[in-house]
Amino acid sequence: MLPQRFAFLSPSPPPALLSPVVTMSLDPAADLPFYYGSVSRAEAERHLKLAGMADGLFLLRRCLRSLGGYVLSAVWSLQFHHYPVEKRLDGTYCLSGGRPHCGPAELCEFYGRDPDGLAGALRKPCRRSPDAAVRAGVFDSLRDNMLREYVKQTWNLEGEAMEQAIISQAPQLEKLIATTAHEKMPWYHGRVARQEAVRRLHSGAQPDGKFLVRDRQESGSFALSMVYGKTVYHYQILLDKSGKHSMPEGTKFDTIWQLVEYLKMKADGLVTHLGEACVNGKAAAKTPSLPGPRRTNGYTAPPQERELLPMDCDGFNPYHNPSEGRRFHIQRSRLLIDEVELGSGNFGCVKKGVLMTESGQIDVAVKVLKNDNETLVREEMLREAEIMHQLSNPFIVRMLGLCHAESLMLVMEMAAAGPLNKYLSSNKDTVTVENIMGLMHQVSMGMKYLEEKNFVHRDLAARNVLLVKKQFAKISDFGLSKALGVDDNYYKARTAGKWPLKWYAPECINFHKFSSKSDVWSFGVTLWEAFTYGGKPYKKMKGPEVMRFIEGGSRMERPAACPETTYGVMRECWTYKHDERPDFRTVEEAMRSHYYSMSSRAEPEGAGESPQ
Ligand code: ADP
Ligand code: MG
Repeated sequence: MLPQRFAFLSPSPPPALLSPVVTMSLDPAADLPFYYGSVSRAEAERHLKLAGMADGLFLLRRCLRSLGGYVLSAVWSLQFHHYPVEKRLDGTYCLSGGRPHCGPAELCEFYGRDPDGLAGALRKPCRRSPDAAVRAGVFDSLRDNMLREYVKQTWNLEGEAMEQAIISQAPQLEKLIATTAHEKMPWYHGRVARQEAVRRLHSGAQPDGKFLVRDRQESGSFALSMVYGKTVYHYQILLDKSGKHSMPEGTKFDTIWQLVEYLKMKADGLVTHLGEACVNGKAAAKTPSLPGPRRTNGYTAPPQERELLPMDCDGFNPYHNPSEGRRFHIQRSRLLIDEVELGSGNFGCVKKGVLMTESGQIDVAVKVLKNDNETLVREEMLREAEIMHQLSNPFIVRMLGLCHAESLMLVMEMAAAGPLNKYLSSNKDTVTVENIMGLMHQVSMGMKYLEEKNFVHRDLAARNVLLVKKQFAKISDFGLSKALGVDDNYYKARTAGKWPLKWYAPECINFHKFSSKSDVWSFGVTLWEAFTYGGKPYKKMKGPEVMRFIEGGSRMERPAACPETTYGVMRECWTYKHDERPDFRTVEEAMRSHYYSMSSRAEPEGAGESPQ
C-alpha cells in the first residue's frame, strides 16, 4: 500500500529561512502537545493544577541544567513529581537510573505503559492550549542570531551561502555554538585578572548580585565574581572530567551559560543569586571562537579534532570568476593538467588539474573533449558549459571556465572523493545512515535550487553526485540538462536518446516530457542507491521490464538501512502522475526534517542496520 500522501512531512510548519524555527525544529520534543519548552517548575505545577490534578497527568518541559535535557512533571495522589530526563552523549534519553530511549516521545510512551520506578504510570497528557507557543529559553532566542554570527565570522559567509550553510549543517552548528555561546554573553569578560574584575564590578552602580564570569588564568576553567554588600566575592567554577561545570557541590551543567541562568534563579551556595550582568563593553564586538582545548573532555572536540564541515572546504563559497577576457575563457597557461584520469565517457575523459588564479591555486577537474573535430560532441559540451555557467550553489559542481587549446576543455571545481555510488560501495563500514541522510539532504537542496532557477537536470543519479569529501556532496554532469523557458514547466525531447531509463519517470519515457517533477522521480532512485550503499536499482531488469514493473504499480522495496520515514519520501517521489508528485521544495523540507531529527536524537530501531 502506498503511504498516505505527504505523510512523511512533520506536523509542524516547515522550518523557514531566516526564522528561529530553523533551530527550534532541532528540539525533538517541539511537536509534542504536552511540551511547554523552558517553563519553570512553578509554572509547570500551575498548568497541572489548572488541568485538574488527575492521577498520571503529566507534561514535559526543558531542563535548564543539562544540554538537551528535559523534566517530566507529573501528578499522583494530588502530589507533584518532577523527574529530570537526561540527554546522554550517545543521543539517548533517560530518567536517572532508568532505561535509555531514542527520543522524548518514546520515553513518555514507555512510562505510559510501565511506571518502572515512577510514582505511577503516565496516564493523561496535560496539553498546551493551542494558542500558547512552546516557550523559548534564553538560549533558544539567542541561538538563531548566534548561529548567523558564528557562521559569518568563522567562515566569512554571507547571504545565500550563509543560509545554505546553516540549513545544511544546523545540527553540527548547534552543538558547536552550545559550548561557546557564553563568549557572546554580556557578562563574559574573557581572560581578565581578579583585580581587573574587581575594578569592573566597582565601576558604576553596585547592586547585590551584579556579576561577571572570567577565564581562570592557568587551569582552563572559569571564575565567577559578584558583588554583595559592596564587597566582591570570587568563586571558582569547577570543571569535572566529563566536561560539566558546577559550583562546589552544586548542580552540574553542560555549559557555562546554563550554569549562569540557573544561578540567576537559585543561589546554590553563593551569598546570593546572580542579579544584573556587569556588562563587558567589548562583548558585542566579540564572536564565539571554535571550541578550544579547554573542552577536550567536554561536549565537542577542539578545532583540530572536530569533524571538518563543508564550509571548511574551498568549494563552499563561490569563487570569484577566474576567467578573463572572453566570457568564461581560461588561458591555457594558467592551467596545469595532470595525467591522472578521474573518469571517462563518450565525450573524452576527465582529468585532474590545477588552475592558477589571482587568489591562489584551485584544484580542478578538466573535461577534455576527445575529438575536437566532431562538431556534435563539441556543441554538446558548449551547451553543458552554458548551463553550468548560470548556476551557483554550494551543492552543485561549479564550472570555472572553458579553455580552447589542444582540445576544448571544460574546467570545473574538483570533487576529490568521486561519485557517490562508488564511494558508498567501497566505504560501507564507515559511512553511517546519518551521514547518508546529510548528503542526500544536500542533494535535495541543490535540486531545489535548480527547480527555482527553472532548470531540469535529466540525469540525476548517484553516479552524478560527486563528493568533495565524506560530508559534502555536489550535483554534477549537466550534459543532458536544459534551461526551461519562463512559461514552460517541461522540456519536450523530439527523439529518444541514450537515456538512463531506470532513473526516468513514466512521462519521460512515454511522452518525452522532462520537468523538475521528473527530476524528483530520479531523486527517489538516487535515494534508493544511496541507502543501498551504491546498489544497482531494479537488479538485473532491463529497461522495458522496469517500465512494465512501474506501470503495474510496483516499486522497489525499502533498503535495509533506510528509515521508514525516508522510504516514505522515496515512494512519494515515485508517484506515477507528475502533477501529484511532490516538488523539490516539499522533498527538501522532508529531507531536512528527517536529517535534523536523526542528528538530534538516537537512531530509531531498525534504521541503523548496515547493509549485508
Ligand atoms: P558523463 O557525461 O560521461 O557521465 P561526467 O560529467 O559525469 O560525464 O564525468 C565522468 C566522470 O568524471 C565522473 O563519473 C567522475 O568520476 C569524473 N568527474 C567529473 N567531474 C568531476 C569533478 N568535478 N571532480 C571530480 N571528478 C569528476
Ligand atoms: Mg556522469
